[in-house]
Amino acid sequence: SHRILLGPLVAAIDQGTSSTRFLVFNSKTAELLSHHQVEIKQSFPKEGWVEEDPKEILQSVYECMERTCEKLTQLNIDISNIKAIGVTNQRETTLIWDKETGEPLYNAIVWLDLRTQSTVERLINQTPGRNKNHLKHKTGLPISTYFSAVKLRWLMDNVDEVRDAVVSHRAMFGTVDSWLIWCLTGGTSGGVHCTDVTNASRTMLFNIHTMDWDPELCKYFGVPMEILPRVRSCSEIYGLMKSGALSGIPISGCLGDQSAALVGQMCFQDGQAKNTYGTGCFMLRNTGVKPVMSDHGLLTTVAYKLGRDAPACYALEGSVAIAGAVVRWLQDNLGIIDSSDELEKLAASVGTSYGCYFVPAFSGLYAPYWEPSARGIICGLTQFTNKRHLAFAALEAVCFQTREILDAMNQDSGIPLTQLQVDGGMTSNKLLMQLQADILCIPVVKPSMPETTALGAAMAAGAAEGVSMWSLNPEDLSEVTSEKFEPQINPQESEFRYARWKKAVQRSMNWET
Ligand code: ADP
Repeated sequence: SHRILLGPLVAAIDQGTSSTRFLVFNSKTAELLSHHQVEIKQSFPKEGWVEEDPKEILQSVYECMERTCEKLTQLNIDISNIKAIGVTNQRETTLIWDKETGEPLYNAIVWLDLRTQSTVERLINQTPGRNKNHLKHKTGLPISTYFSAVKLRWLMDNVDEVRDAVVSHRAMFGTVDSWLIWCLTGGTSGGVHCTDVTNASRTMLFNIHTMDWDPELCKYFGVPMEILPRVRSCSEIYGLMKSGALSGIPISGCLGDQSAALVGQMCFQDGQAKNTYGTGCFMLRNTGVKPVMSDHGLLTTVAYKLGRDAPACYALEGSVAIAGAVVRWLQDNLGIIDSSDELEKLAASVGTSYGCYFVPAFSGLYAPYWEPSARGIICGLTQFTNKRHLAFAALEAVCFQTREILDAMNQDSGIPLTQLQVDGGMTSNKLLMQLQADILCIPVVKPSMPETTALGAAMAAGAAEGVSMWSLNPEDLSEVTSEKFEPQINPQESEFRYARWKKAVQRSMNWET
């Protein structure tokens, strides 16, 4: 049936923390025609360290592209209809490579990584009044282990190969988007070294008002500006695919994953918001063309800039480090489930945590606390508690963390959200979605096409090639309707549990100091 409506095709590389995907959409309907996904290995070489292999990341992208093209061919869809490719990626994850050999100089340091905790504490102690928000007026961000600048500083201080390459002008820094675009457009033979404004705004080296690298910030972190990629808008032609089945197709969209989800959920109006449940959990609320500074622990970030001459739009963001990652932990570290799907059954079999609270502060606490010294705790245990209650408490933890972000967002904007648009891998868990509605006391709405991150990047890429999807309403076009979860428990019950959660959070603080 879709073949009748088949318009030009747009594609996206979605390089997330836990997996890589390549997806192809029909630009007329936003229908997902084909995709392929490959898991990414994470290594934990020391406590608090999280790394990924840049070459494995690149290989996974090529593999996903090839397999998706094979699937399209089997569907009798001509891959020459693909007009543009967008890139969306896990943000902040820091890479550095040698531009003459094309070789990475170290593993990618993943955003969750805590190795820079002592550096961060030292930097904060050196600011007037020990103020973690010392650089916020320029960057929108608190000084934290989360952002790229401190990770890059660590690499220059601790890895000889990195230091040598920087001194001899051979080093290129980038987040995952930059690494991929450089490699895909030719690498050592003419690769384009660029990033987009959304990814740049997560480095702590970028001034979100001037929309450019900031010489003072670079000096503060000791980063030579020559190693930085050129900053471009989210929708323009960066370069052409150099090899493979898609050789010659322009790469013309680039957004950090959370910005791409905001676009894919069509949150273009001031005040519209979405929450994405992946490895972490990220709520973004569009604030239009002006950056709004939070008084409640949220970040100010660049939401998107859809074209070279288009205005930049900003967002308030609440970032939660651990969401889906707690599911992986229950599986890999405790072995109480064999797959993430099993968690829902296990938790549903009891339907309560029986007073057990689980604060998964594995990487400290992000918004609204920004407390790198917090560590995970499980409390409220009795003789009665079992793994089912723990499974339930893990799901509830994701919901409570989101409640804290929503409260902060409502306080900052003064206009409470009346429903929450959601997406991401964890939203396939219906119990989680119901619990979320119960704990927020507002409806939770999941779109019919869940791959909103990839859709946002594909839309940005298409727009640069004259394939406009801005007026599409996927809800009207799709045969499947969105799912809505209404709150089912009374608000007093919800408040009681939330108050207990906050008590548990206080106990997780100031642990690793
Ligand atoms: P990312 O973009 O960060 O790689 P995804 O959006 O792909 O993340 O979501 C993957 C995450 O969602 C994993 O951490 C996984 O544990 C979690 N997840 C997937 N399915 C479920 C489920 N049914 N219940 C709970 N968590 C799930």
